[in-house]
Amino acid sequence: MKKDIFLFIIFMILIFLIPSVFSHSFLFSNAEVKKENQINSTEEEKVEENPYDYSQHATIKLLHKDNQSVEELPLDTYLLGVVSAEMPANFEQEALNAQALVARTYTLYTIINSHKHENADICDDSSCCQAWISKENRLAKWEESLREENWNKIEKAVNTTKGKVITYEGKVIDAFFHSNSGGITETPAEVWGGTNYPYLQSVETSGEDGYSQYSSEVTLSKEEFKNKILEKHADLILDYNAENPIEITEYTDSNRVKTIKVGNLNISGVEMRSILGLKSTNFNFKIDGDNIIFSVIGYGHGVGMSQTGADSLAKNGSNYEEIVKHFYTGVEIVNI
Ligand SMILES: [Zn+2]
Repeated sequence: MKKDIFLFIIFMILIFLIPSVFSHSFLFSNAEVKKENQINSTEEEKVEENPYDYSQHATIKLLHKDNQSVEELPLDTYLLGVVSAEMPANFEQEALNAQALVARTYTLYTIINSHKHENADICDDSSCCQAWISKENRLAKWEESLREENWNKIEKAVNTTKGKVITYEGKVIDAFFHSNSGGITETPAEVWGGTNYPYLQSVETSGEDGYSQYSSEVTLSKEEFKNKILEKHADLILDYNAENPIEITEYTDSNRVKTIKVGNLNISGVEMRSILGLKSTNFNFKIDGDNIIFSVIGYGHGVGMSQTGADSLAKNGSNYEEIVKHFYTGVEIVNI
């Protein structure tokens, strides 16, 4: 009897043990296959290694920030609303194509990695995720004579890049974009801290100065300026009669303001941009009597693709693939 119980226990142990042995070897062999793939992978195989299935994201859940409603849309229908909200339709077709590809890539990256919103994949707020506008509202904002032509360009941009995304080493990239780089893009660590990405290097683009987004000015009285800083830093001591009461003390490699000294404080360029509502961190200032005048170059954080830079490149004959590869270093454009 005791022997039977003993055999039964051995039997039960084996039953539990065998599947785990099997599954372990299964996982192990899978890992080997993956390693093999990584060594000789073609672009298509690289995409297969991505931890998602494109067909899973054939529709996306879009959160409308104004009324908190969630709308489910086919991905490319959603992208029509993004491209038409994010880039002027009078930009070159190849620039719009680049924007569509960047927007699709950004959308998939956000769905896979960000999880910013509980019941939605992405929202329509450009300061949080990506701008979006409905076709109806978009058409209403265009002059009637341009509606058909403009909408055709937007559709062409999404269709030309259908199923394509930007990858780096087989993974969908975090495709940041902005309005105008002022001639040179910024690296992400200078804006958000943390580490840099190999595909987001600082690159130069000519022709950015030909756009209205290139330069802007903000004028504040000395008192207004001081009050704005005091709202964030109650410990500010600022005496305008002191020597150099305000002084830019450090620049980033792309020549944007890294640190500015205001009285007794050192404030980052990024924070100063936010406090004063400047269009970028590429700014200079002069004190003129009772006023302080900030002259700003470029528009946006400066990371990734510059939209006006994309248009400028397109005007000089670049296609959308060349534009994307100009702004994102070492990337591939792949079909998924
Ligand atoms: Zn969002």
